[in-house]
Amino acid sequence: MSVFRLNGPQRSAVHTRTNKLANNRGHAIVNAAGWDQATPDQIRTGLQPAAGLQGKGAVLLGIDHVGKSFGDGQIIALDDAKFEISDNEFFTLLGPSGCGKTTLLRIIAGFEHPTEGRVLLDGRDIGHEPPFKRPVNTMFQSYALFPHLNVRQNIAYGLEMLRWKPADIKRRVDEVLDLVQMPAFADRRTTQMSGGQQQRIALARALAPRPRVLLLDEPLSALDLKLRKAMQSELKRLQKETSLTFVMVTHDQEEALALSDRIAVMNKGKVLQVGTPEEIYARPKTCFVADFIGEANLIPAGLVGLADGKTISIRTEQISVRSRPADERRSVEAIVTALTFLGADTLIEARCAGDVPIKARVRGAVSGLSVGDRADFAWDHSSEWLLSE
Ligand code: ADP
Ligand code: MG
Repeated sequence: MSVFRLNGPQRSAVHTRTNKLANNRGHAIVNAAGWDQATPDQIRTGLQPAAGLQGKGAVLLGIDHVGKSFGDGQIIALDDAKFEISDNEFFTLLGPSGCGKTTLLRIIAGFEHPTEGRVLLDGRDIGHEPPFKRPVNTMFQSYALFPHLNVRQNIAYGLEMLRWKPADIKRRVDEVLDLVQMPAFADRRTTQMSGGQQQRIALARALAPRPRVLLLDEPLSALDLKLRKAMQSELKRLQKETSLTFVMVTHDQEEALALSDRIAVMNKGKVLQVGTPEEIYARPKTCFVADFIGEANLIPAGLVGLADGKTISIRTEQISVRSRPADERRSVEAIVTALTFLGADTLIEARCAGDVPIKARVRGAVSGLSVGDRADFAWDHSSEWLLSE
């Protein structure tokens, strides 16, 4: 079953190659090898997905027990990753630096081969397909735009390599420029543009050939905070409007929570938990996930009379601090070690029995409480979560 009339052979190749070419200081030497595998007829059709075969919720990508090691097995970059990504999903790989996110993205793109396991697209093993045969495009962190071409030429370049008809190219370039809200910039040189503007053009270029999956590796990390926030909304909007599947890599938990339909939290090559932002935030499975997402307190369950040896997690904003225990709520006594006024909130840090740290984030400023005071940290039973691992 072919979902595309053109099975997308050249799309990724263009981006692989354009990236390589741009890195080589932008000499656009066109090597057509590898782009001649679709029939002219297929090429002219312009990569429209066939209607009705895919819908929201259908599994698009299967990561099936994927492992990857480097250096004769010395470095385990990925260890038995297993999860599925649905069609139309904004899916995020989240984890600290070195946890294997980029490796997994490169395996999906086909730039890297798994040592174990399979990558499935529509249930079909695509492990043996080179990047240019996969309906997958990557937007690289370095935008890799050609400095000697203007915006229109940058976006058109890949479509020309796919041998789209000039009229189709013109229409599509206008379409994607509208999509990223940059129609006035068509004739500008990319070197005359700000980081945020270059980012939009790189996105337009990656979207132009209509891939089914867009891979984004830390797409916003080069931007300053304000622009990053603006581009977050922009990415979300683009994903909604194009109904494409986005797979984004980030180490920024706030960004992952803000953008994703679902998140895979990774650490040391392992996928620890896959879930919606709400699930990951409110019901983390492990100490690592609880700690990595937002600000969580990890309290030995024994301290509040629950199962010994287990850990409970409570979000800092769920804890209130008062001088007297409240019977109906769970509470621990602790000695305040720091009070930090953060504008909208105050962070109260303290130590309870066994020197276990506890933090509460309360609204506004705090009066009548000082470092060294003994206070009661209380929360509703409903806001604590017993970790399963
Ligand atoms: P992340 O993107 O999460 O920061 P990576 O996927 O880049 O992590 O890397 C995961 C691990 O694999 C790291 O320990 C990294 O050093 C190692 N690694 C990645 N690529 C290679 C490679 N080509 N050769 C050797 N080690 C690699
Ligand atoms: Mg990386």
